[in-house]
Amino acid sequence: MLQKSVLDKARRWIRPRIKKIQAYHVADASGLIKLDAMENPYQLSAGLKAQLQVRLSEADLNRYPDPSAAVLREKLRQVMQVPQDKNIVLGNGSDELIQMLAMAVADHDGDKDVCLMSFDPGFVMYKMIADFVGIQYVGVSLTENFALDMEKTRAAIAQHQPAIIFIAYPNNPSANCYNKKDIEEIISIAPGMVVLDEAYHPFAQSSFMERLSDFDNLLVMRTVSKMGLAGLRLGLLCGHPQIIQEIDKIRLPYNINVLTQIAAEFVLDNADELDQQAKLIRDEREVLLGKMKQQPGLQVFSSQANFILFRVLEKNANDVFENIKQSGVLIKNMKAGTGLLKNCLRVTVGTSEENLAFLTALLKAVNSEF
Ligand code: PMP
Repeated sequence: MLQKSVLDKARRWIRPRIKKIQAYHVADASGLIKLDAMENPYQLSAGLKAQLQVRLSEADLNRYPDPSAAVLREKLRQVMQVPQDKNIVLGNGSDELIQMLAMAVADHDGDKDVCLMSFDPGFVMYKMIADFVGIQYVGVSLTENFALDMEKTRAAIAQHQPAIIFIAYPNNPSANCYNKKDIEEIISIAPGMVVLDEAYHPFAQSSFMERLSDFDNLLVMRTVSKMGLAGLRLGLLCGHPQIIQEIDKIRLPYNINVLTQIAAEFVLDNADELDQQAKLIRDEREVLLGKMKQQPGLQVFSSQANFILFRVLEKNANDVFENIKQSGVLIKNMKAGTGLLKNCLRVTVGTSEENLAFLTALLKAVNSEF
């Protein structure tokens, strides 16, 4: 009889759902201008960097960090204006918070999987994490111009009774903020928690943070990644203390490392510098949008974030993406042959020089014969 290999025996325990998942792919940007991942293109000023270096050199690397990161949470509360009667739980990036939320609800409702709902096209991590933890993901289609389709949304909520609804505000990859009244209706009719994912808040400047007091089932999630601190990996989830307390039980102790705590506390004390960078990015976004909209052969969507979604009308987006890459600029290929993202690409707003390099590469690609 054929013996199963030890490897086969080990692998059979991996859930079929996990085997089916395609790993989250991060493109190699070596030698390229990196406009693919919604990072802030600016560094901290030399003065702040020097002070930060001193603080970091004093870190007790031999000790575990403060498990609850109490000082950091208070600074975040002040800078992000989290209401006093709400609590905050921190994650190693907001990705980890999405995972903690999903783990908190992962169960079966009779023989039916609990449901995590969001909107498609949307942030891919919601679905991936639902798959990781073994719950059902329902993505409600947006309209052609990426607005909420309220008829479909009401029907989906009634049918699937989602434990959590994630609303990215602004949405990734479409870069728009949904209608506030529609969001309020969703929060009101939801049978569970509603998470407003405000990752791009510095560029939208519209928020549900102050609405936490109106809805006990509302949670607001932010990150420092897009503000200019993507390397620190730090996100926060704010909401009713009785919900945050449960999510906090799932958080692994010491999930926010000592260097992140020190660096984030220091930069938040100097938050003006990040605010100025966000303003620069918002201004650059308007310049870039204006120039892209003048370019024939493209459909350019408006943006309230630090990136712009656009559709290539007369060429294949894969070819345009590759051609732009050959010119030395890495953007994001949405890789959609059909559907709402058909032939779409996404570019992150960079410095004025980077944006110019992108525009030059785009112009060349759109006008090339291939
Ligand atoms: N939410 C949205 C809508 C995002 O686009 C992203 C990152 N692309 C995240 C959350 C995750 O951010 P982070 O884990 O860096 O905090």
